[in-house]
Amino acid sequence: MPIELLGKSKTELTDLATSLGEPSYRGAQLYQSLYIERLFDLSQMSTLPATFRERLANETKITLPVIRQRYKSHDGSVRYLFSLPPGDDRATSRPASVEAVFMPSDGRQTICISTQAGCAVDCQFCLTAQLGLIRNLTPGEIVAQVLIPLEEHKHALQPNTNIVLMGQGEPLLNFDNVTAALRLLLDPKGIAISPKHTTLSTSGIVPGIEKLAKEEVRPGLAISLNASNDEQRDALMPINKKYPLAALMKACREYPLRSWEYLMFEYVMLGGVNDSLADAKRVVKLLAPLKACKVNLIPWNPGSLPFHESSPEVIDIFQKHLIERDIPTFVRHSRGRDVMAACGQLALNELTSAPNPNSPLPVLP
Ligand code: SF4
Repeated sequence: MPIELLGKSKTELTDLATSLGEPSYRGAQLYQSLYIERLFDLSQMSTLPATFRERLANETKITLPVIRQRYKSHDGSVRYLFSLPPGDDRATSRPASVEAVFMPSDGRQTICISTQAGCAVDCQFCLTAQLGLIRNLTPGEIVAQVLIPLEEHKHALQPNTNIVLMGQGEPLLNFDNVTAALRLLLDPKGIAISPKHTTLSTSGIVPGIEKLAKEEVRPGLAISLNASNDEQRDALMPINKKYPLAALMKACREYPLRSWEYLMFEYVMLGGVNDSLADAKRVVKLLAPLKACKVNLIPWNPGSLPFHESSPEVIDIFQKHLIERDIPTFVRHSRGRDVMAACGQLALNELTSAPNPNSPLPVLP
């Protein structure tokens, strides 16, 4: 079996080079070609000697996800639907499609990426939940969702790149592959995305938050809150039964924030469900003990799921209540609505051929 190169760390590539009889710096050159120059064809890696490239061509491979579709929005966003090969074992042998979204704006581009094909978490407002978990993505498949859009837009890139792990999947349930991908994305001598410009969004997997807190390389953390008490959250996000609000907020209080960092809380506003002033008051109680946090209120996009939009007045009252209690709170609209920019949307359409315009995510941080 040829060895997959994409997703390997500099150390792994160096070990590979030496195991093939090359000096160790050839591994560093390979790392540079793959991740900095974004060369995915060995024949183009002109820094490597022809004999080494030939050896690599015989014994290794570079597998990019296949771009099944590109949907371009009038706001400049491009939504990618990627096909991935089925997993290796029987349990994960369903073919997988995942989505990534490239969103340009002044001075930066934001790329929203997936970490799993489908998702097992079952949030009631999310289309990806309807896929169930198909399989975890590998580090290479996660990193490729950044490299491909960067390469495609290389002539019009803005100075900064933001990465949000808010596409399909719960990143903390694919912990090892996600953190391996983050080490590649955030390597200052590699792809060099800033941790300040990278956000991992979780549904509230408490052991994963505790584990992430100990990682040397880690992005900003966002919590998908969406409810103000356990009863509500149990109904909207059944994962709350396993990790209820008290445990989640304790993990948030104990999370070691760096000097520049704050915890982001995402709150999808669901009309008549979680958007009352009483909800706002309970959210303040939950968040008040935290050192530094911000809230993104995400207006619901109406569609076939059984939820309704909150009125602008209701969102305004909710936002003002939090701001007056010193919690910075923003209203964020999702991008690329005209290309169905809902997490899980395109993959679900592939399976059902039934377009659905709901769009809980992604939103810009
Ligand atoms: S919102 Fe995120 S965690 Fe919840 S089901 Fe969808 S993809 Fe999974």
